[in-house]
Amino acid sequence: MTSPAERRQQVLNDIARAAELAKRDAAGIRLIAVSKGRTVEQIEALIAAGQTDFGENRMQEALSKWPELLARHPNLRLHGIGRLQSNKAADAAKLFDSIHSLDRFSLLEAVAMEAEKAERFPSVFVQVNIGEEEQKGGCTIAEVGAMIEAVRASPLPLSGLMAIPPLGVEPAPYFALLAKLARRHDVEGLSIGMSGDFKTAVMLGATAVRVGTALFED
Ligand SMILES: *Cc1c(COP(=O)(O)O)cnc(C)c1O
Repeated sequence: MTSPAERRQQVLNDIARAAELAKRDAAGIRLIAVSKGRTVEQIEALIAAGQTDFGENRMQEALSKWPELLARHPNLRLHGIGRLQSNKAADAAKLFDSIHSLDRFSLLEAVAMEAEKAERFPSVFVQVNIGEEEQKGGCTIAEVGAMIEAVRASPLPLSGLMAIPPLGVEPAPYFALLAKLARRHDVEGLSIGMSGDFKTAVMLGATAVRVGTALFED
């Protein structure tokens, strides 16, 4: 049995080692604790260990846990990382500090409109369907340039690109392709890497890793 603090330190050590191998500064890599399916008590234990960034992938669940947690810990940052329906844009604009799953023009329009109303402007990552999979969220590779331009023309700050590579295959080529798209469009941020592949993602330029299982389970 390891404690939440020990698991978090292990993940931070792994990030630091991968950054060092890639000659990167680990300070430029944000660890997002993915707390979907975890209780408020489990989340509090990670907060006590010093964790400040959390990610949720379903709006209903985020709304049931986070208003209370954010009231107690106003310094935390909450990231929306899951598929988002346009009719949840108002909730998203009010609750999230960053949205990693901006994948279509209609959603951008809806979030931007609600952000203006709420006077709260979450930063966004454009999610790319990097493996061109039928079922996956994300815009197509062909749409990336236009999506980036649309975000730049909107009131929402652009954080970068996000992707989830296909399951069960080596993720490195997909991370490298996303990094290349980011360079081509002069974008800084890359939201890539989960429990199974965050070290690879850090080597290939991740600026935000989204880690759930490795932080919450032994
Ligand atoms: C659940 C989830 C993660 C974290 O996955 P783990 O394998 O548990 O680390 C990362 N990103 C997204 C979009 C997720 O839904």
